[in-house]
Amino acid sequence: LPSTIPHAAMVAAKRWGDAPALIERGETWSFNRLWRESIRAAGAFTARGIGRGERVAIWAPNSREWIVAAVAAMLCGAAIVPLNTRLKGREAGDILGRAHVKLLVTVSSFLGQDYPALLKGEDLPDLKGILLLDDGWDALLADAPQLESKKVEAMLGALSADDVSDIIFTSGTTGRPKGVLMTYGRVIPQCGVWIRNTRLGEGERYLIANPFFHSYGLKVGWVAALLAGAVTVPMAQFDVRQAARLIEEQRINFLPGPPTIFQMLLDELEERPFDTTSLRGGTTGAATVPPVLVERIRTELGIKDIITAYGMTECVTITSCLPGDPADLIAHSCGAPIPGNDVRIVGEDGQEVARGKTGEIIVRGQGVMLGYLDEPEATAAAIDSEGWLHTGDVGTMDERGYVRITDRKKDLYISGGFNCYPAEIEKLLSLHPAISMVAVIGVPDERMGEVGKAFVVRRPGASLEAPELLAWARENMANYKVPRQFQFLEELPRNASGKVTKLALQT
Ligand code: ATP
Ligand code: MG
Repeated sequence: LPSTIPHAAMVAAKRWGDAPALIERGETWSFNRLWRESIRAAGAFTARGIGRGERVAIWAPNSREWIVAAVAAMLCGAAIVPLNTRLKGREAGDILGRAHVKLLVTVSSFLGQDYPALLKGEDLPDLKGILLLDDGWDALLADAPQLESKKVEAMLGALSADDVSDIIFTSGTTGRPKGVLMTYGRVIPQCGVWIRNTRLGEGERYLIANPFFHSYGLKVGWVAALLAGAVTVPMAQFDVRQAARLIEEQRINFLPGPPTIFQMLLDELEERPFDTTSLRGGTTGAATVPPVLVERIRTELGIKDIITAYGMTECVTITSCLPGDPADLIAHSCGAPIPGNDVRIVGEDGQEVARGKTGEIIVRGQGVMLGYLDEPEATAAAIDSEGWLHTGDVGTMDERGYVRITDRKKDLYISGGFNCYPAEIEKLLSLHPAISMVAVIGVPDERMGEVGKAFVVRRPGASLEAPELLAWARENMANYKVPRQFQFLEELPRNASGKVTKLALQT
């Protein structure tokens, strides 16, 4: 494997040359074109003083220019700081400041009204420039000083596996996002394992709706595609009708995404059938995966090689199933530790628990982050002295080493003295034929301490009311797990990673 992401782009151009690398907005780019554009952008960045150790933020929807800017910044020796596209000016400003960003690459629509004021202030002393991907970008590259091939070689030669490649901020599902420091030496081997596990092949068409500012769209998204010689088909944002059209028209072979994306595609398929015959493989994870969903992805969307996986910003991939695994393992677990990672389940005392018993999932190995950006206390709380990353997720490991995630430690609530894991209750409720999506949280209750409240999205055309669902729940789960409150919604609040934001449901 190439040692860094710019090396991967260079090697891909050598190896696959004029084969398609990207399909977007009706245009196809080859690996050669992608590398050429990246070198030109690196020329423009160099002219703006971007060099080793600097930070370049990218705040834009998925696009081929996003990839070009990222490869170029990295080629200059800078680390990229991908920003969440849902942030507003002030929040983006906060991260730009915290990460000491020197150059911001964005799109004109994101520069909101309060934004220029922020930039002029003393808040961002490190920020020296802003470039727009949608306005003047081509002219900028055309006017940029050409880097000679000797110079490009020298720039590549200066990069090493220990360089920080990116600082991605966590999804903020449970609180304020934290910046995660990653190096090429951590990222590239993880992507290599991902390619092997998913069998992502040369020329396969990879639909990437997952945002590039998240590991799922970036590392195991376009970076993996670049390493595998697959074709990236990026979506600026997920829109189910457009996704269905792309699958059909672009003959998409591989589809990664959180469960919500697959759920929405299945609903779409019921309402407006589309051609899914090109779909070969897919992965789902990033949030709780209802087992029935895995089965429906296989039978209704026809994705034969659907697998589940588990990862987090702090460690790209932790566990993964393999396409050949038995269907029930894929549906009920998120797979075994990937090569290079050790995973253990530990109790409150930090000791490993017996197989099948519940505890916190901890991981040590090649993929674990360097640490959180400028948060030594949070880093020390996350990675212990022996190098184990404490994930904050609760789960079990079976005899074969397959991991099942019970829930996040933080989402657990206690009802009448019993531990309730919302993820487990959601999986049970998902079995109801009228339910498309469901989220459960614990809410205060005078008698029980806390009780479950379920937020339910019905399947298209289905009718379902609270009394009926309550009766069904009583028959299908232990009494303490039965939610006592129900609310029906058109959709669930999701963050840009596609995860249901339980914090938003609590208010
Ligand atoms: P924050 O850390 O800011 O609260 P976040 O944890 O959602 O946000 P990410 O790093 O994007 O940020 O997500 C990692 C988390 O997603 C994991 O810790 C786990 O809770 C959840 N997750 C990932 N894969 C799965 C899966 N297959 N099943 C259940 N949960 C998963
Ligand atoms: Mg987290």
